[in-house]
Amino acid sequence: MLIVMKAQATEADVRAVCQKIESLGFRAHSIPGAQRTAIGITGNQGAVESGTFDDMAGVQEVIRVSKPYKLVSRDVKPDNTVIRFKGHSATIGGPELVIMAGPCGIESREQAFAIAERVARAGAQFLRGGAYKPRTSPYSFQGLGEEGLKIMAEVRDRFGLLIVTEAVDYESLELVDQYADMIQIGARNMQNFSLLKRAGRAKKPVLLKRGISATLEEFLMAAEYIMSEGNYNVVLCERGVRTFVDHTRNTLDLSVIPAVQRLSHLPIIADPSHGTGKRDKVTPLARAAVAVGADGLIVEVHHDPDRALSDGMQSLFPDQFDALMGQVRQIAAVLGRRVHGTNATESAVVIGS
Ligand code: PEP
Ligand code: MN
Repeated sequence: MLIVMKAQATEADVRAVCQKIESLGFRAHSIPGAQRTAIGITGNQGAVESGTFDDMAGVQEVIRVSKPYKLVSRDVKPDNTVIRFKGHSATIGGPELVIMAGPCGIESREQAFAIAERVARAGAQFLRGGAYKPRTSPYSFQGLGEEGLKIMAEVRDRFGLLIVTEAVDYESLELVDQYADMIQIGARNMQNFSLLKRAGRAKKPVLLKRGISATLEEFLMAAEYIMSEGNYNVVLCERGVRTFVDHTRNTLDLSVIPAVQRLSHLPIIADPSHGTGKRDKVTPLARAAVAVGADGLIVEVHHDPDRALSDGMQSLFPDQFDALMGQVRQIAAVLGRRVHGTNATESAVVIGS
């Protein structure tokens, strides 16, 4: 159920409707839009009697939302969600593309600083890097834990980069919420519903990666879990799904980007690193993702990929990342979008490079 308020409804009108919803034992989600505020109702098993709200001051209409997801839907909010970060110019979901780059995992202070220096110079706004690594094998590098988060916080101070890093359970989520600017929920946890709810109670925006076999509806429902707990700052990320192909690690499903944008107001970015698993495919798929309308990219970059403790095979060398940024800038311009920073290494889009 969705209550659409009139454009001229006052804050007191909105508050009164929210109070009415809560008094019925449901949860009210007030979502301001460019034209008007919409109030989503969750927690109701069946339909809520619409007559309850029809006559309240400031109410324009009461709409039944037929889709299983409500708060992520464009029915609630027709205009795109734009996420902002206190004290930083980066936005996600607006005309400027967001670029997140860095190693798969934070391995040491030296490693993180060496990579951060290069990606910041190239125009990335976020340093990515796992302090907690969900690995297929329990014997593989599992991340530095809180030590890794401390290193990332130092990187923020030194280079002015925002920090995005993965939380794998309740305990790490609490720490990531304290240290980072954005909480990543990994593909393997996309349907870890208790973790999604915990992320919904966190203060920081959430980067939600698509599960390796998640349908569009499952992906949006995972975002709905987070929003239903009151955290409306969710960014979706297409990172490839598992298919029969064996020329790449995953198949980057770029068609999901316009499909999400049709149904949801949430931003969606692409991860061509996990989406291909192969260094030489990362840049072409990054170009394609921007062309298809992604709101940004998350890319693995390592200063010494041959010695990386995880995902070296899909990590770009810093020089390759510079070239990628130059190309992405040109493609973004065609679409009327911008990329932060200046084009230090102007390079034409050479197919096959
Ligand atoms: C990552 O970003 O390093 C990662 C583990 O991604 P995913 O959850 O998409 O596999
Ligand atoms: Mn990785």
